[in-house]
Amino acid sequence: MAHVRWSRRWPVVLVSVFALVAAACGEDEPEPPADDGQMQEFPAGSTMAELQEAGEITIGVKYDVPPFGFRNPQTDAIEGFDVDLGQAIADELGVEPNFIEAISDNRIPFLVDGTADLILSTMTITTDRDAEIDFSIPYYIAEGRVLAPVDSDITGVEDLAGKTVCTATGSTYEENLKENAPEAKLRLVDTYSECFELVQTGAVDAVSTDDVILTGMIIQDDTLELKGEGYTVEPYGAGIAEGDTDFKEFVDGVIQAFIDDGRWDATYQKWIGQYTGETDPAPTMTLEEALELRPCEETC
Ligand code: GLU
Repeated sequence: MAHVRWSRRWPVVLVSVFALVAAACGEDEPEPPADDGQMQEFPAGSTMAELQEAGEITIGVKYDVPPFGFRNPQTDAIEGFDVDLGQAIADELGVEPNFIEAISDNRIPFLVDGTADLILSTMTITTDRDAEIDFSIPYYIAEGRVLAPVDSDITGVEDLAGKTVCTATGSTYEENLKENAPEAKLRLVDTYSECFELVQTGAVDAVSTDDVILTGMIIQDDTLELKGEGYTVEPYGAGIAEGDTDFKEFVDGVIQAFIDDGRWDATYQKWIGQYTGETDPAPTMTLEEALELRPCEETC
């Protein structure tokens, strides 16, 4: 499994803070797939045909979560791993991507009410969510971690009793923390940038969410660090409107091709590997295996 052990790789991440800016400026782009100029044809009435008719696909991504979805401060462009995958899906349809911000709590409502055609927003596949929307095959495997100031006495998730811990409303960490740190005081906010500010000012003792999100914070502030080991597995899936089986199959096909033809490796290297100095393989976990990690809690 492609777990990222950030604490071990941490010095490399820090040294590479300037490289992140370079990448954000558009250097080291992976090669786009060959464009033969042919637009794929889809059955009339399918989501794919409708998107082609519209000429664009609206994709909900994060705007404040480097390296998955963030606004490049120099160009204002939205960039990251999720954005590159979204671009690949738009390219396959022959349409323009329209990236909108989907914070954790908006992801499912945006699919249900049609605000977004697709969600690529560091979203863990869970059985509860799967009752409301459909998921693609897993395209990234993150891990749940705890971040706190370097000089904090917190040693990991088992050490959060009585501490104030920030995470995002609508994220898996509402449950993850209740289960793994039942005596922690949760501070729920809309965005991870709010958690970042709160831990920097000392208004909360720690932040808990996915390793890749926390590492984005560490890159910006080296007085923060990961504490303890990973305590949950978070397989990311693309969110698709419930019951749109053809579109799900299409998205699965694009993700599988992205993995098989080396674009996943190039994208991993561009956004993650070059800072960690390690190469993790693309996920091989099936959707069923991802769902088995989180047995049904509420709505199913
Ligand atoms: N992957 C977790 C989730 O889907 C946390 C990250 C996030 O909130 O975007 O809830």
